[in-house]
Amino acid sequence: MDDCLFCRIIRGEIPSAKVYEDDRVYAFRDINPQAPVHVLVVPKAHYKNVSDCAGKDPGLTGYVFKACTDIARAEGLENGFRLTTNNGPDACQSVEHMHVHILGGAKLTDKMG
Ligand code: AMP
Repeated sequence: MDDCLFCRIIRGEIPSAKVYEDDRVYAFRDINPQAPVHVLVVPKAHYKNVSDCAGKDPGLTGYVFKACTDIARAEGLENGFRLTTNNGPDACQSVEHMHVHILGGAKLTDKMG
C-alpha cells in the first residue's frame, strides 16, 4: 500500500519512535499519547482493520496480540494495561491499517466508550 501512513512508517519513509520490530510486526509510540505509555502495534502486512486481518490471517491476528503482551511487559506495565483496536467508522478508526493501541503506565478510566 504505497500511500498508507503505517505502511510508510514500517518502510522507514516516515520517522517513528520504534519500540519493537520483527519479521511480522512493527511497534512504535503514538504521536499523540493518551496515557504515559501509548504504543501502536501493527502487522507489517497491510490489513485495513482487525476484522480484515482476522478474516484473512487469524494466525497473524493472534501473533499481533501476543506481541502486544510481550511489549507491555517490556514497557514495565506489570500493574495492567489496555489493548484497544478501533474497527471502522463507528469506532472512529482514523488510520486504515490494522493497529492495536497499548495504553498503560497509570490508572486508566473505567469508561470504555
Ligand atoms: P485510530 O484512531 O485507532 O485509527 O488510531 C490512529 C492512531 O495513530 C492515533 O492514536 C494517532 O495519534 C496515531 N498516529 C497518527 N499518525 C501517527 C504518526 N505519524 N506516528 C505515530 N502515531 C501516529
